[in-house]
Amino acid sequence: MIGLIIAGLAFALLFLFRILWKQNRALAELRDAVKLNQPYLREESIANYLPNWNGLVETINLQITENSALQQQHSGQLTQLEATLGNLREAVLIVDQANYIHLANRALREIFPASRNLVNLRLELIIRSSAFLDYVRATRAGQPLSRQEFEITDGAHTVWIEASGAPIASPDGKNAWALFVIHNLTTERKLERVRRDFVANASHELRTPLSIIKGYVETLVDGHDTMTFEERDKFLKTIQRHSDRLKAIIDDLLSLSRLESATPQLNLEAVNFAEFFGELADEYRHRESGAAHTITVAVPADFGAVNGDREKLTHVFGNLIENALKYTPKGSRIELGARALGGNEVELCVRDNGAGIPATDLPHIFERFYRVEKGRSRETGGTGLGLSIVKHIVQLHHGKVWAESSEGQGLAIFVSLPRSQKS
Ligand code: ADP
Repeated sequence: MIGLIIAGLAFALLFLFRILWKQNRALAELRDAVKLNQPYLREESIANYLPNWNGLVETINLQITENSALQQQHSGQLTQLEATLGNLREAVLIVDQANYIHLANRALREIFPASRNLVNLRLELIIRSSAFLDYVRATRAGQPLSRQEFEITDGAHTVWIEASGAPIASPDGKNAWALFVIHNLTTERKLERVRRDFVANASHELRTPLSIIKGYVETLVDGHDTMTFEERDKFLKTIQRHSDRLKAIIDDLLSLSRLESATPQLNLEAVNFAEFFGELADEYRHRESGAAHTITVAVPADFGAVNGDREKLTHVFGNLIENALKYTPKGSRIELGARALGGNEVELCVRDNGAGIPATDLPHIFERFYRVEKGRSRETGGTGLGLSIVKHIVQLHHGKVWAESSEGQGLAIFVSLPRSQKS
């Protein structure tokens, strides 16, 4: 009898345990279905032990279905918006309440190219500016804000943007999001900086000889009655040297400004480079400055002509020869070379065997007022503008200019030009 009771109890416990286990499993499956946003495929037998189970499952499945429909509608709306805004020149950004990006059109991706797909990334990872993040927060909160400019630096890379924003509701209407229209001001700001630096450099360059001239003139005026003829002569010669320098800087500045004007003219003609280089070499061999150097020409007999502005090309190669004369010791060699590249291209070169230029300076020598050795350049009447004028003229001819050097091995300046200009 006791044995029967124990067996009955054991059976009842086993039965209860089975029901509990089934309930637990059903609840876990239901939880997973909610997590995955997928309707729950119900296990009928559980309904016998859990009152209202079917009702609960139906309600949850209904919620899940509505939720996925909403999500689909939402991503459909964003895709549609993305397609509409994709080709806008203005950058458009939509962020949610937690600063996750929901829309970033192509123009925005071009401003912040670090990551190709910005959607679903946190804004902080893309736009590293606390000022901009404050602006996003205030916009989302509905504070009335005017458009604002931000300087965003990420490592060595800086961009300037102007943003205007508006709060918007999330597609399900439950959260506050924000939409921004962003203009990329980087090119303008960089140009402004270049212009500012240029004005500062030009003023400095002009002021130096001017102050020297002023000082000497004042001394001449004050010492008019007491100075010897030799002293006066020495002062006047110094004034003359610095006036020449002033004139050289102003002439180079005018050349640069003419080259940068909206419509610089090229007077194109066929320039035979064997003859052209030959004449230039002769001219400099006969100058006082060139007499102590060896100037050679290496142009293949069949090199032929290049379509270009003879006067401007004379300025380019004259300047390169003058530099080679100025910056190499007497007795150095200067070679004017030319070779045909494939297609329509030719490569021209002025090479010397002087001291060359250190690798750290090499990328900068075409910048305005950049000098490797300031003292030497001024001493030899250099303005620091010669190579930037060369670069402008070459670019006007749709060509490229670059320098190659190794210290102690001389400098070679290469100019590549199309043989015929489209103009
Ligand atoms: P500059 O009027 O001072 O000569 P450039 O723009 O013509 O200005 O040249 C820039 C700098 O590049 C010069 O100041 C000089 O330091 C360096 N440079 C140019 N040509 C040579 C060369 N052939 N050898 C060594 N250094 C050179």
